[in-house]
This record gives sequence, C-alpha cells and structure tokens, in this order.
Amino acid sequence: MKPGSLARVVLAAASILVQLSVSTVAQPAASIDRLAQEPAVKSALATARASEQQTLDDQIRFCEVPAPPFMESARAELLRKAFAGLGLERVRVDRVGNVLGDRPGASLHPHLVVAAHLDTVFPEGTDVHVRRRGTMLYGPGIVDNCRGLAVLVAIVRAMGEAHLQTPGTLTFAATVGEEGLGDLRGVKALFAETLKDQIDRFVAIDSDGANVTPRAIGSLRYRVTFTGPGGHSFANFGVPNPANALGRAIAKIADLQVPGDPRTTFNVGRIGGGTAVNAIPAEAWMEIDLRSSDSRALKALDARVQSAIDAGAVDENRRWGRQGVSVSRTLVGERPAGQIPVDAPIVQAAFAAGRAVGLNVVLAEGSTDANIPLSMNIPAIAIGTGATGSGVHTESESFDTTDAWKGTQNALLLTIALAR
Ligand SMILES: [Zn+2]
Repeated sequence: MKPGSLARVVLAAASILVQLSVSTVAQPAASIDRLAQEPAVKSALATARASEQQTLDDQIRFCEVPAPPFMESARAELLRKAFAGLGLERVRVDRVGNVLGDRPGASLHPHLVVAAHLDTVFPEGTDVHVRRRGTMLYGPGIVDNCRGLAVLVAIVRAMGEAHLQTPGTLTFAATVGEEGLGDLRGVKALFAETLKDQIDRFVAIDSDGANVTPRAIGSLRYRVTFTGPGGHSFANFGVPNPANALGRAIAKIADLQVPGDPRTTFNVGRIGGGTAVNAIPAEAWMEIDLRSSDSRALKALDARVQSAIDAGAVDENRRWGRQGVSVSRTLVGERPAGQIPVDAPIVQAAFAAGRAVGLNVVLAEGSTDANIPLSMNIPAIAIGTGATGSGVHTESESFDTTDAWKGTQNALLLTIALAR
C-alpha cells in the first residue's frame, strides 16, 4: 500500500474511533510530516527550541528539590505551580500525590495523558545539588526523571505560546511512585481512580535516549521467609534448619530453565537470617525478582518458583524426619507486563515524530509508567527525552545538554499528533 492510501484508510478509521470514543489510537504516522508544517505547530516547535534555556533551568530546579521514594510532595508542588502558571486547567493533586493539569481540546476524546514521574531512587539525605561543567550537568536524578519533567513542562509552554488548538483533550501528569518499591502506585491510581475509564492514549516521558518502548516488562517481587524452632548448633543438631531450606529453594530456582524470547528472568537479590554461627537459625529470608515482557511466561515462572520455595521447606523437614521449617511469602512488588505491536499507530507515530525533528528513534523495552495502560490494552508507550545521559540511578548521574532541544521537539510533536 502506498503511504498516501494508507493514511486515508487510517484517517477514516480515526474518525469512526473518535465518534465511538473507543480507546484505540489511530494517528497515521504518514501525516506527521504534514502536521509539522502547520503554522501553529511550526511555531510551537520553534518555541521548544528557543526556550531550551528555560527547560534546562526547570530541569535543574526540579532536581535540586529531593524526591525520594514516597516523599515526592515538595517536588510535586513545583510542578503544580508550573502547570498553573502556564495556564493548564483544573490543576490538582490527587489522593496519592500525582499532579494533574488539563488542556481541553475541541472534544473530550481522544483523551491523551502525557506523564513524567516525580520520584527518584535516591534516599533522603542524598546531595541533590546540580553542578555544571561545560555542556554537562551532574546530579542525582538530573536525567531520570528531571529531564522528563522539564520536557513535560516545555510541551505545555510551547503549546500555550503557539495558542495551539487540539481536536482531542490533553492531561499532563507528574506521577509518584514509579521507581522500585513505589511499585507504580501513581500511575495505578491514575487508571484505577483519578482518570478511571477516561484515558484513550498514554505517553510516559522517562529518562534519556531517543527510544520508544511499546513492550512493558512485568515483574513480581517477593520477600520469602523460612522459619523454624532454632536451637544450639551442637545440642539441638537434627532440628530442621531454615537456612538449609532457603539454600535448597535457591538451588532449585537457580536450575529453572526460562524462555529467552519472551525474555524471562529471575534473581535472588538479597538473602539473610540467623543470629550466630553456633546457633540453628529461627529465620532465613530472601528477596526475589521475577520478570518477563509476557504475562503468561511471568505467571508460569511464578508458579515454578512458588513450587521450588515450598519444596525447600518440605525437603528440609524430610531430611531430618520431622516437621520444623515452614515458609511464608509477601508480594512486595507487582508490575504487570503488556505490549502493543510495533506497527500500532502510536508506536509508528513515535518513529515518525522522531524522523520529522531529526532524531533516530529506536525500539526499547522497559518497566515504566506505561506498564499499567499496556497491561489494560490501552495504547501506550514510554519515550526517552531524546537527550544523552549516563550513570542513571547512580549519584554520578550526568546529562549532556548538547542539542537536547531536539528531544523536546520530538515529545512535543508526538503529543500534538496523538491529541487528534
Ligand atoms: Zn525513570
């Protein structure tokens, strides 16, 4: 099919979908080049470039307000003020702490949410002062995700200054709880509560790189605890030992065969327990992380890991011929898997927007705020900010400001394209 005819077919489909308010993306990638030539869009793209210094200033000032896991409220307040100052409507903070602001379109649908997460992996007390050297910025969180937040604000600014009207409605969101034990609680609340049943499309702007992530890696995380009576290492020898049971379980897990495609992984990340070298421990524990981009593969791995854990306790008790060790587990993290085909319009739009602004967008997979809509079959992607970063999630995190505005233009053009 020629690009032109493809565009017409998809456009026809788009209008039907909008009428039905069905949450399926239908922005033809081929029309993005034309979109980029519309006067108001051109003006917004020019603003995104011209206001790069303001974007960098925002990035630095967001970064210098700490946002450790579960403590995002001070940084959230900066975003609330930025959204309100740039004229977004109904600027609000929801129950879990997400900051939202609306930019109404000609109609309610399609309703696009563009999000960036507020939180960092860094604990309270981390020095978040940003240092500049030449074209480089250094500071924990300067890339992930202060650049994402700054780009989010830059999109709002550029659209506002260009007085850009969109057919669909936009909500900009700065979310809490994306990292680690935050367990996506912000975006989970967005879809289950704050904007329940309203969102047609979702884009997460996260970290560095010119990439699009249509594949969400799901994960399950457990803390597993083996317990027993304990005792003296010599006097009570023969009592089933929780450390032995833990070892037996880990050995079984380590031998599990998992698919390479879809990539499916397990990791025993932490172990502990016991009180002394000459005491039979009363407790031994591990933390384990299971991942896959395929929800069925993740479920299958989970079942086998649970069997291995149970067998660890059973085998230990059998070895000594008596009951003694038991096991319990707590789910400490759950991120659902999900994916959308590479030829889906929302993914193709991301490639096309990149091409239109001179960025080579590549495919990626990851675990981001987009996991939740992808697991619900709502068209969603995560994109990088287009810039170059390094040392993400370490205290030596750095950001290269060279031509960073291209990534802002990319995210802006994609936003405009998906809001129609
Ligand atoms: Zn991130």
